Amino acid sequence: MDYKKLAELLYPKAKSVDFFFDIYKKRVLSTGAEVTRLAPSPTGYLHIGHASQALACKLTAKKSGGVFFVRLEDTDQKREIEGAGKIALEMLNFFELGPDEGYLGDTETGEYGPYIQSKRLEIYQAFAKHLVSLGRAFPCFCEKRDNKEDILKDREQQIEEGAIETKDPCRDLTLKQIEEKLEQNKSFALRLCSEGDGVKTFKFKDLIKGEREIVANDKDIVLIKGNGTPVYALAHVVDDTLMGTTTVIRGEEWYSSLSGHLELFKAFGFVPPKYAHTPVICKTDAGNKRKLSKRKDPEADMRYFIKSGYPKTAVIEYLLNLANSDFELWRAKNPDADYSEFLFAISKIGSNNPMFDFDKLNNISKEIISKLPAQQIYEDLLTYTKEYDTNFYDIIKNKKDYCLGLFNIDRGGVKPRKDIANLGEIKNLYSYMFKEFYNPNKIDNYDFDPKISKADIKCILLMYRQTIDMNDDKQSWFEKIKALCEPFGFAVDTKSFKQNPQNFKGSVADVSGIIRVAITGRRNTPDLYEIIKLLGKREVTERIGRVLELLKVEEGKFIDKIEIVDIHP
Ligand code: GLU
Repeated sequence: MDYKKLAELLYPKAKSVDFFFDIYKKRVLSTGAEVTRLAPSPTGYLHIGHASQALACKLTAKKSGGVFFVRLEDTDQKREIEGAGKIALEMLNFFELGPDEGYLGDTETGEYGPYIQSKRLEIYQAFAKHLVSLGRAFPCFCEKRDNKEDILKDREQQIEEGAIETKDPCRDLTLKQIEEKLEQNKSFALRLCSEGDGVKTFKFKDLIKGEREIVANDKDIVLIKGNGTPVYALAHVVDDTLMGTTTVIRGEEWYSSLSGHLELFKAFGFVPPKYAHTPVICKTDAGNKRKLSKRKDPEADMRYFIKSGYPKTAVIEYLLNLANSDFELWRAKNPDADYSEFLFAISKIGSNNPMFDFDKLNNISKEIISKLPAQQIYEDLLTYTKEYDTNFYDIIKNKKDYCLGLFNIDRGGVKPRKDIANLGEIKNLYSYMFKEFYNPNKIDNYDFDPKISKADIKCILLMYRQTIDMNDDKQSWFEKIKALCEPFGFAVDTKSFKQNPQNFKGSVADVSGIIRVAITGRRNTPDLYEIIKLLGKREVTERIGRVLELLKVEEGKFIDKIEIVDIHP
């Protein structure tokens, strides 16, 4: 077969590969510099797996003095979602994972563009033609040739049944037969002419999976579809060669097609990049481990974390933690360092699929938020609620000092309060601090400790209400609470209660607990003294009055019941 002639027949107008090698010069890089890239397809939004790969790409490039670029893989137009590429970029930028080069949403930057694959069709044609001229690609005129999945499915089944070989029958067409088909205007897909026999294996070292034995590809994979668009394999090999990628960090799902990609690099005579196939983030669902799914799990989409109001560093640190398990130890030793100082390494990524763990994310986030100044939390909350909760925004925007007072409770110092995991939960977490959201209307809405009698709650609140004085310092406020203990049978300190529990109904902690629940509805809140000062005498007195009223109603119900029992024994 005269392959040069065949190449001319199939792609008469295509340029030479040298033409493109002249345009895209080899990168001039210092020794050891890594060129990494993220290649999202605009078929959904930025997946958490892609964000984690972007982080690995960015840190690897930065650490080595290299380049991190983004390329948009949009050749599968059927699966494309309008605007998804741009959103992916916005998400990367939001999390400070934006690239040094490449696709930027509306524009692009760099010497190796276009960075949108649908704009690179003539480049793929040139390389396709070159491969044909080397005798390593051939046209396939079969029906269904465009529908790769169908073909592969059909063929795989047939191969399994022993009916056909993995090699495509069209590879045996003569030049004359091809010429005839082209004259009849039949369109064709271009396939790799594989040299594998399905038996031969070779050793391959993945940066994450380590050294593995791989069966060489033996499939005549499609490279260019009938409509002239390339499939992933060809675009990957051509783009990563021209763009000078040194390390491909991509999802585990591509590992099974690796042997085909490596055969393609070899067929062209190009040196393949290093590969790191990242494990897939999973979760437990009804006792089973499964991949995070964009359809079922909102946390698979990076926008979820923004909508929930997680600080971006919390999400990034969580992803770092998933990728390099020694990050946690490093963070404990370096509580105030920026995460970029951590020595990230691809080689430290475990090959097992990590589990997404909300508790861990929340703990990291709480730690980060606990260190922020109140002013910052207030400003972040304003920005957040303006976008996601305008009702709350309207309430807080004119209450700056009040909010600062609230966020300042138990902040600073060696043991700051770690209760806020994201901005979205502040409203519920502190609903009792906003009259607009605080409306308990039955006694069951209060989380009183059931071991304390309603009679004691009532008496203690009645007494406490009389002592309220906003000029009290914390010490005298607490003395007043202590003074309520003995008359009602509670110990003035927890120590004496623990020594002789049989002598008391509880301790001063229970007495202040009653007051806390009466004012906030909850047993666990930040410093009660500070809360009382912020709410003010009128509000606190009213709230206690409300509990006393509700207790009265409760008593009434109780008496009614007794009466009914008495009348109808
Ligand atoms: N478009 C592929 C993806 O979205 C890119 C894979 C790669 O990084 O090469 O996963």
